[in-house]
Amino acid sequence: MTPLPMPPAWAEPLPEATPPPDMAIYQLHTGTYVTRAAFAVRGGSFRDRRHFAATAILVQHPKGDLMIDAGFGSDVAAHVASLPLFVRAPYQATKTVSEQLDACGYDRGRLLGVLVTHCHWDHVSGLDGLQVPIWMNSGERQYAAKDPDGKVFRRVSTGHEIHEYEFTGPPYLGFPSSFDVYGDGSVVIALAGGHTTGSVVIFVTVPSGKRHAFIGDLTWQLDGIRQRVERPWLLRKLADSDPEQVRQGLLRVIALADRMQIVPAHARDAYDGIPDLPARLAPVATLGHTEQPG
Ligand SMILES: [Zn+2]
Repeated sequence: MTPLPMPPAWAEPLPEATPPPDMAIYQLHTGTYVTRAAFAVRGGSFRDRRHFAATAILVQHPKGDLMIDAGFGSDVAAHVASLPLFVRAPYQATKTVSEQLDACGYDRGRLLGVLVTHCHWDHVSGLDGLQVPIWMNSGERQYAAKDPDGKVFRRVSTGHEIHEYEFTGPPYLGFPSSFDVYGDGSVVIALAGGHTTGSVVIFVTVPSGKRHAFIGDLTWQLDGIRQRVERPWLLRKLADSDPEQVRQGLLRVIALADRMQIVPAHARDAYDGIPDLPARLAPVATLGHTEQPG
């Protein structure tokens, strides 16, 4: 099984980021579902059962917080049941994002919205318990409105305001266009496309200077990055709207892999080092509601 050619490592300086000192990120694990490695990455074994993570990331920022993806919601059983048979998988749900936020005393008034990497069921199920705006770009809205794989999204997004952002920023780390959410470089969204029309990579820099790339489903597991392998042929056909564009995005993030933590959404070990939500979440001072981004 031949890996993709090794792209040249990113050699230029990383873009400037000045996250405010009280910015922080947390991971909220909401469950897993089982996929055989044979279906996840080229060359994977049929006996190697992978537990795909459904994890959300809370970004706390003085200008208002964002949740990256929504994990499994309280209606996950119905969401799974509504999927075509061949994608239904045994799953295990723990606590939803909504339950976890309540348990740590989180003030939901701080949450500007859920920024989705893309609108597939396993990233949006938890919107059923989060009545906040959904942050999407126009390409993803169009995909979500029509594609059969947008079915769960159409169900859980009913009644939600859609906050549509645009890629008004310059090329970013090899991606052609970007959107700097807070204007300080701490959270920058880049259009990747290919998995869905408007699927994105979300670059997050925390005050320590540590950088992360939340790459959604450009690859499902860290093998995709470390061994430079795509999804198996059939799954590329089934899961990606433009497999060639996915390959391009994957090579772009592989080129960044020694400069930052690359986080494929479903790779459990990719989240190592990102703190869990604490039992009590310390409030972050808000700069004032007139300064909200977006
Ligand atoms: Zn996914």
